[in-house]
Amino acid sequence: MAKLYFNYSTMNAGKSTVLLQASHNYRENNMQTYLLTARIDDRAGTGRIASRIGIGAEADVFLPDDDLFERITARLAEGDVAAIFVDEAQFLTRDQVWQLARVVDDRNIPVLAYGLRVDFQGNLFPGSATLLALADEMREVRTICQCGKKATMVVRQDDQGNVLTEGDQVQIGGNETYVSLCRRHWREAMGDTGGATR
Ligand SMILES: [Zn+2]
Repeated sequence: MAKLYFNYSTMNAGKSTVLLQASHNYRENNMQTYLLTARIDDRAGTGRIASRIGIGAEADVFLPDDDLFERITARLAEGDVAAIFVDEAQFLTRDQVWQLARVVDDRNIPVLAYGLRVDFQGNLFPGSATLLALADEMREVRTICQCGKKATMVVRQDDQGNVLTEGDQVQIGGNETYVSLCRRHWREAMGDTGGATR
């Protein structure tokens, strides 16, 4: 039976590398894969999944209004696919995660989604929240904080290295950078000295 997988991480954990390696393993065994990524991420140019260590692969892009069940059904009409990979899965809408679940259930094809769990303010992305609710299996792609502990949180910094505590969940085309931290160092960076958030 096919499953819906959610591979989650914080920023810079190498999830695209893990995705590309997993897809490569299928293709090496003469099985086709179908790759999707969010249009919002144009780091590697539209329609490409790229990792920071230099490998990449062509991918279709999805927008919030796309019906992914229909899109995948159209792709399957062109030929068999052994697995479907979705990068930047935090940008999926709730409906799109359900569409991927229908692909798994009704077409019996595994869907492997890779995405960030929380934003820079410590809130779940909508796509990730739905994946956490619906996925059959979840795996964490790990990276470490500067202190050596597992990083689970991310801070957004401006071009001067100042930590930003406010702003939109998704920021496109700015000079912001992201640093992954453990929860304790994220709290320190965000100025949490106690009170309501503790
Ligand atoms: Zn730390």
